[in-house]
Amino acid sequence: MPARTGQQYIDGLRAQEREVWLGGERVSDVTRHKGLSGGVRAIAGLYDMQHDAQLRPVMTYPSPSSGKPVGRSFDTPATREALETRSKMMLNWARSTCGMMGRSPDFMNVTFAAWGAAAEFFGEKRPEFAGNMRRYVEYIRENDVTLTHALINFQRSRNVSGMFNLEEGTALEVKRETDQGIIVRGARILATLGPLADEIAVYSPRLARHSEDHSPFAMSFAIPCGTKGLRFLCRDSFDLGRSHFDHPLGSRFEEMDCIVFFDDVLVPWERVFLLYDVNRLNAVPHVTHSTAHSAHQGAAKNLAKCEFVLGLALLMTQTLGNAHLPHTEERIGELMLTTELMRSCMRAAEADAEIDRWGVMCPAILPVESTRNLMMTAYPRMIEILQLLGSSSFLLTPSEADFKGPIAPAIEQYLATDNAGALDRVKLFRLAWDAAGSAFGSRQVLYERFFASDPLTRARAMAAIYPKGEMTERVLEFLGRDD
Ligand SMILES: Cc1cc2nc3c(=O)[nH]c(=O)nc-3n(C[C@H](O)[C@H](O)[C@H](O)COP(=O)(O)OP(=O)(O)OC[C@H]3O[C@@H](n4cnc5c(N)ncnc54)[C@H](O)[C@@H]3O)c2cc1C
Repeated sequence: MPARTGQQYIDGLRAQEREVWLGGERVSDVTRHKGLSGGVRAIAGLYDMQHDAQLRPVMTYPSPSSGKPVGRSFDTPATREALETRSKMMLNWARSTCGMMGRSPDFMNVTFAAWGAAAEFFGEKRPEFAGNMRRYVEYIRENDVTLTHALINFQRSRNVSGMFNLEEGTALEVKRETDQGIIVRGARILATLGPLADEIAVYSPRLARHSEDHSPFAMSFAIPCGTKGLRFLCRDSFDLGRSHFDHPLGSRFEEMDCIVFFDDVLVPWERVFLLYDVNRLNAVPHVTHSTAHSAHQGAAKNLAKCEFVLGLALLMTQTLGNAHLPHTEERIGELMLTTELMRSCMRAAEADAEIDRWGVMCPAILPVESTRNLMMTAYPRMIEILQLLGSSSFLLTPSEADFKGPIAPAIEQYLATDNAGALDRVKLFRLAWDAAGSAFGSRQVLYERFFASDPLTRARAMAAIYPKGEMTERVLEFLGRDD
């Protein structure tokens, strides 16, 4: 099945029974559960964009196997132009969710596309893994499969080295091998999109190193979410079942985060991409350049999100009539600066892209890593600025029902400003609250702080690739001058 429609995506979720728990109950149908269905509709909307006559040329491209249109984020661009088109596709998706669904399917699609191109690397020691990877990437592309992923193991204690404290009974490990595949047991976090995905990928993040070369904790595979023994445990849903007026973001873009338990799960051999090989597992993101491609997808999300917050701030200050006050201008200026830095990093990554050893036009790594790391502190600050600009207006937000009740005339009279009627003001500030104050908004801040690992690990990732010698050389050269 080439590029899917939203309905085909929903039908796929319904067709695959899976074990999802939320609030103490097993969810019988994720597409109809009130805490999850909003997110399902949002993802379905993304797939529908692939069939919009005007957008189709950007959102899809001809499959290298069948020639039929498939999702553009599966592309491995060979030219800068193709990379830029993929970037437009990702921006279209990110803007349609206001940047609030970080784990839209393109995140995993670009990752696996990079791995497919670099399949040889997976098979250097065990050639069958290269074939597994190639076939899997073709399978997800041709069937437009939606993937979640879980990289992080639980730890009972921490050490300062940054090494994971991996222990039997908490971390996911290979328990044994059979003719059919490997049997894995343990748990992983934090599968965003878990209940809303068709398949789950398990691998490890760069730098979060295991301590040995050969380890039962080292593995890379992908299996259907309905696989026997797999259980997803959701956090509370931040879709409160309210109207779009009352809860504009949470009622639309709940992507859910899950713990995943693996209870002696069979991973068929054809779905195993790496096994026991710690160094190779750690090298994957860097050698295959999947980290550059996923950060490029993140850059599109960052830009869309910053544009959205900036737009909110501009409308808030126009509505309140404080846009011309000096400290407001200064704060708006900061939001503009961050937004343009995100845009610049994305453009720089595309302008300086180069064909890599896998024949893929790869975004330049430093600018995309910069936007990823910058967002960890820039987004919380942007939200702080929204709070400073909005103050009590965030709480002067009667519900849709209040506008229809007996107190409506008073609301209309007192909440209107010179620039906006009460209804428009409240509608805007309910949206702003959902970005800056609600549980949904707070989770967005946490997401930006941690989705790509903790700040220390991110700093180390940047330091590992930064051309430090060039900088020290310049200073040494100056120190050596005698003019
Ligand atoms: C909203 C959200 C969505 C996410 N989605 C996904 C997803 O889809 N897939 C996925 O795989 N992961 C996902 N993540 C998980 C993310 O990768 C982890 O949160 C991240 O790697 C940090 O790990 P942790 O949460 O266990 O933090 P911890 O390791 O518990 O860190 C907490 C704090 O303690 C500090 N710290 C931890 N250990 C040490 C130490 N040894 N020495 C000194 N300081 C230390 C950290 O710097 C940090 O400030 C998501 C996270 C969030 C918040």
